[in-house]
Amino acid sequence: MNAAPVTAPLDDWVSRLADEAVAFAERNGTPVKVASGISPSGPIHLGNLREVMVPHLVADELRRRGLQVEHIISWDDFDRFRKVPNVPGVDETWSQHIGKPLTRVPAPHGSDAENWAEHFRRELQSALEELGVEYRGISQTQMYTSGAYIDQVLHAMAQRGRIDSILERYRTLDRGDSAPTQGNAEETDADAADAASGAAEEADGSGDSGYYPYKPYCSVCGTDFTTVTAYDDESTDLTYVCRCGHTETVVLREHTDGKLVWKVDWPMRWAFEKITFEPSGVDHQSPGSSFAVGKDVAPIFGWKRPLGPMYAFVGIRGMAKMSSSKGGVPTAAVALRYLEPPLLRWLYGRKKPNQSFDVALDGELPRTYDEWDALVRKTAGDKAQPGDIAAYARAASVLDTASQQVRQLPLTPRPMPYKTLASVVDITTGDDEQTLRILAALEPDRPLEELSPLRPRLDRATAWVAEQMPAEERTVVRSEPDTELLRSLTDEQREGLRLLLEGSGVPAPSGLGRLEDDWSLAGITHQVYGVAKVQRGMGADQIVKGDKELAAAQRAFFVLLYRLLVGSDTGPRLPTLLLAVGADRVRSLVRPE
Ligand SMILES: [Zn+2]
Repeated sequence: MNAAPVTAPLDDWVSRLADEAVAFAERNGTPVKVASGISPSGPIHLGNLREVMVPHLVADELRRRGLQVEHIISWDDFDRFRKVPNVPGVDETWSQHIGKPLTRVPAPHGSDAENWAEHFRRELQSALEELGVEYRGISQTQMYTSGAYIDQVLHAMAQRGRIDSILERYRTLDRGDSAPTQGNAEETDADAADAASGAAEEADGSGDSGYYPYKPYCSVCGTDFTTVTAYDDESTDLTYVCRCGHTETVVLREHTDGKLVWKVDWPMRWAFEKITFEPSGVDHQSPGSSFAVGKDVAPIFGWKRPLGPMYAFVGIRGMAKMSSSKGGVPTAAVALRYLEPPLLRWLYGRKKPNQSFDVALDGELPRTYDEWDALVRKTAGDKAQPGDIAAYARAASVLDTASQQVRQLPLTPRPMPYKTLASVVDITTGDDEQTLRILAALEPDRPLEELSPLRPRLDRATAWVAEQMPAEERTVVRSEPDTELLRSLTDEQREGLRLLLEGSGVPAPSGLGRLEDDWSLAGITHQVYGVAKVQRGMGADQIVKGDKELAAAQRAFFVLLYRLLVGSDTGPRLPTLLLAVGADRVRSLVRPE
C-alpha cells in the first residue's frame, strides 16, 4: 500500500477546486465549510451521490493540507412528501401522506426505520461509512421543530416584501424551465430520482392573499396544503387555512411546525451554517432555479451564496433486471454490492464535476475493475502521471480527521481479474471448494490455500453474477452430451476432439499429451491452442503470428467446444471453463461417437 503522506500534494481537478474554495472563503473572511443537501424522499440515486462526493473530495483535499474543514450533510427530511415513488414495500395507500413532512410518513413495509426519511437516509449513511466520507449530518426536522430557525423565520417574514420582489424577477425565467432530472431514461428510475433530487420545484410562497415565505404544516391533517392568509408583524400572529377545511391562527415566534419555502430555506441555511462551498446539480442551476435566486436571497440573511460548481449527470448502465424485480433504483448501497468502495470513489474522483459519466453495473462492470487494476499497477511503478497518482490516492484513502493520518480503505489483498472471478463463480454456481480449486489452478506459481485473500472482490463478483450478469453471458454446462452434434461432426472436428482428449502421441510441449496429463491453466491452454496447430503439421508449442487460416481453425474449434460444453458459441475463457467443468465431465461431453 502506498500511503501518501499528508504533505504529498496531489495535482488534479480536486486540488484546483480546493484552491478556489480557499480563495472564496478568504475573500469572505470565513473558514471553508462545505455542504451537501440530500432529500431522503426515496432511494437516493447514484447521481445524488455526486452531491456528497464533490464536497467530500474537496474537504478531504483540504484536510490533507492540514486544514480543519467541516462537511455538513443537510438531511432535508422536513420537506414535504411529494409523490409515492415505485419502491418495494410501498403501495398506493402512501398517497394519503402526500404533503406531510418526510419524517411523518411511515417507512415502507418491512422496514424497521421509524419513518420514511430515516429509512432512505440510513441506506445512504451506511454507504457513506463504507466510502469513508466524514460529515456532520443535520436533520432539518430536528432543526425546525426545535425552534433553531425561529429568528430566521421571523426575519424572512419581516423581509417578505423584499424576498417577493427578488423572486418576482426570476419567476418569468422559471416558466418552461424543465431541466432534466437526474437518472436514466427508465421511468421508475427517473421518478425516484426526481423525488430524491430535493425540492427543485416547489411553490415559492406566493398566493392570492399575499406573499409569505413560511408554510405551516396543518395541525389537523398534517399536510402543507395550507395557505397563509394573514400575518401581523407586531404580534407574529399568523393565520392559515388548509385544504382540509381547518383554519387557525398561531403565534409564529412560538410555532415550530412549518418551514420556509425552499427558495428561501436554502439561502437561510447557507447563512445559518456559514457555508462557503456547496455544489449542485444541473437541475438546480437553470436561470430561475433556487441556486440562481439564492444569490439575491442570501444577503437578506447576511450571507453570500457559496461557491457552487455545477455537477453533471451520472448515468447508470444496467439495473434493468433489478428495476423490474425489486423496483430497484441504483443507489450507492446497490453499487457497493458489486463495486469495492475505492472503485466507487474513483468513478466520482476521476471526472471533473461538469463532466458526466456512467456507472456500469451491467456486462461492462468487469471492465471498470480492469481499468482500476491497470491504474493500481501504474501507480505502483514509476511511469504514473500526477493525475493517476491523485486519482488513486483519493479513491484508496481518506484523511482521517480523528488521527490526522491518511487512512487506507480496504482493498482486496489479491485482486484477481473481476471477469475471471465472475466467470468462475458463474460456472461453479458459487461453490467455495470448487471455486478455490479452479482459482488456485489459474495461478499455480502463487499458492492459494483459501479464498479470503480474494475478498471482498470475490463477494462483489458473486453478488454481481447472481443479480446483474447479463443472461446471455451466463454459463450453463450441459448435463448430457449433445449427441446430435456429436454424430454430425466432420472428420476434422472428430480428429480435433480426439487430439484434445488423447493427445498426438508426441509428448508436450512439441506434441500433445492426454488432456489430464497437465491439468493446470497453462497445460490446458497449451492443449486447446495446440490442437489446430498439430492438425496443420506444426509443433504444438510453435509460436505463430499472422496465420489467418490457423487463427480461423482455432476459433472454429473453440466454437465447437463451447457448443458441446455449454450449448453456446461463446463462453468464459476455455481453459478456465475446462478447469471448472472437470476432466471427467469434459470427456463425457466432447467424446466423439
Ligand atoms: Zn389540514
